[in-house]
Amino acid sequence: MRYAILADIHSNLEALDAVLAALASERVDRHLCLGDLVGYGADPAACLVKIRALDAVVIGGNHDWGAIGKLDRAWFGDTARRALEWTRDQLSFGDLAYLRTLRLTQQDGPCTLVHGTLTRPERFEYLFDVAQALETARMLHTRCACVGHTHLPCVAEVDVGGSQVRRFIHDAPTLTAGVALGTEPSLRYVINPGSVGQPRDGDARASYAILDEATHTLTIRRVTYDIATAQRKIRAAGLPSILADRLAVGR
Ligand code: ZN
Repeated sequence: MRYAILADIHSNLEALDAVLAALASERVDRHLCLGDLVGYGADPAACLVKIRALDAVVIGGNHDWGAIGKLDRAWFGDTARRALEWTRDQLSFGDLAYLRTLRLTQQDGPCTLVHGTLTRPERFEYLFDVAQALETARMLHTRCACVGHTHLPCVAEVDVGGSQVRRFIHDAPTLTAGVALGTEPSLRYVINPGSVGQPRDGDARASYAILDEATHTLTIRRVTYDIATAQRKIRAAGLPSILADRLAVGR
């Protein structure tokens, strides 16, 4: 099986379209979507249409839960809260009902999907470090945890037998060349595919991951998209201009 792993689309239709176009030549069997479908960008409803058409395994992120009021908007900073209030007004009853169906975790094949950490999914914590990767790996009933939320691509290889993180890979050349995954039974992987719609690792291109079970590899892919159009729509919608500005620098 080949899995396409997408996270943090954030209502960025131009980025999502570019990723879907790239995926058309990837021979993917299954799409996994790790939450934050909406929030920040100018096309929440159109992005939901595209994601629902994929027949993907989808979980909810903090912005999805914020848009439907499952997560108190006081939880968010001012910019995110303003974007969420705008987002809610763009969504139909059907869109909101769909977001209400999204759970915090799901399992599919070798993957467990969660937006933040498996330790406390409902708290939407950022998985940044080795200790958190170890905690999440210990909670796994599958081989891989697929997480989002930080918008930073990475792969952690955890030996749950020895309780240690053997590798924690952030550097772009290694991730885009493809990381060979070990087959020892005690190994677990924590995978962050980066963000489709608002990358924050200094590379403005949309980010996603391919997990290939046959070749035992995890590869991060980056694709260019029409950033100028996404920015123009954000400004035209009256959303905070920082949300447009940051797309150009990938921060
Ligand atoms: Zn996000």
